[in-house]
Amino acid sequence: MKIARLSTYRVAPRWCFLKIETDDGLVGWGEPVIEGRARTVETAVHELSDYLVGQDPSRINDLWQTLYRGGFYRGGPILMSAIAGIDQALWDIKGKALGVPVYQLLGGLVRDRMKTYRWVGGDRPAEIIAQMQRHRADGFDTFKFNGTEELGIIDTPRAIDAAVAKVAQIRDAFGFDIDFGIDFHGRVSAPMARVLLRELEPFRPLFVEEPVLPEQAEYYPRLATATSIPLAAGERMYSRFDFKPVLAAGGLSILQPDLSHAGGISECFKIAAMAEAYDVALAPHCPLGPIALAACLQLDFVARNAVLQEQSIGIHYNDGADLLDYVLNKDDFRCVDGNIAALPKPGLGVEIDEARVIEASRNPPDWRNPLWRHADGSVAEW
Ligand SMILES: [Mg+2]
Repeated sequence: MKIARLSTYRVAPRWCFLKIETDDGLVGWGEPVIEGRARTVETAVHELSDYLVGQDPSRINDLWQTLYRGGFYRGGPILMSAIAGIDQALWDIKGKALGVPVYQLLGGLVRDRMKTYRWVGGDRPAEIIAQMQRHRADGFDTFKFNGTEELGIIDTPRAIDAAVAKVAQIRDAFGFDIDFGIDFHGRVSAPMARVLLRELEPFRPLFVEEPVLPEQAEYYPRLATATSIPLAAGERMYSRFDFKPVLAAGGLSILQPDLSHAGGISECFKIAAMAEAYDVALAPHCPLGPIALAACLQLDFVARNAVLQEQSIGIHYNDGADLLDYVLNKDDFRCVDGNIAALPKPGLGVEIDEARVIEASRNPPDWRNPLWRHADGSVAEW
């Protein structure tokens, strides 16, 4: 069996799908994308295809190493997202060739169901609470929302109070019948993170995500000694080699590698094992499409330290298409009480509606995240 061709499709809302075909007619799908730079990653995939066409797709380990090490320069969001989507598609092919789900090839199930959470957009507490009430009716009891809007490096007690009041109102509305993580989204500076974490502690969030930017990772252990709230990060780290110093320094309780950004299933399987060795939990980042989610679930079902799976059903970014619009086997992704069962189909377990993908790719969007500015006109973190 040889790799015959690679085709990419950029589709709404902000995704890029990769189809790898073999000379004997097998098809594997991957999702190589970084949000807001889909065209750049797509170009990287086609540049890397020189190393793939004509090769044996079953040699995933060797092809991964070739893509990673073969070009001298390596790492970072673009190249590692390109490798991630290719790696997913190769695992999809291997599973389909052997007639088993990928989790069987990784040693088999460690759990019967995987807990997922719902994103809740918006910044007004009343709006967030109303959304949570609707999602609770669908069986979800675990949520994530943003902790603040833009925040200055040194901001006022008023800004801190507004962030705390939002969380207080949510906790007040539901008591401890629900759980939530709070995403600081890299918007909070190290000085303000210290203040906010202390103020939020009484509301007992499951975790605070990206309490500071990954560029300031030296603060993770310092912040962890100042708060009992578990700290999470990892969506902007792209390989074992990025996670290594963070794990060694301590401070994070949850790693959030993205299976479409950090080298795919092959690399994130190893990152999960590294985390387990440090007694650190895993909660794969996935505000992306169905192929990325399927890849995450393959890992969740073999990694004992996986605790929560992000997913993008109804997420506020999904403008123009929702998570399962391009999926034929929608039932396999059904959430029961917020849990997804192991996907039963071979490979990644996602059957893509190719006609719909091709149709959508004729009019691809160029999604960008908002560009925020502080009141004085300087650029703010989004
Ligand atoms: Mg995040």
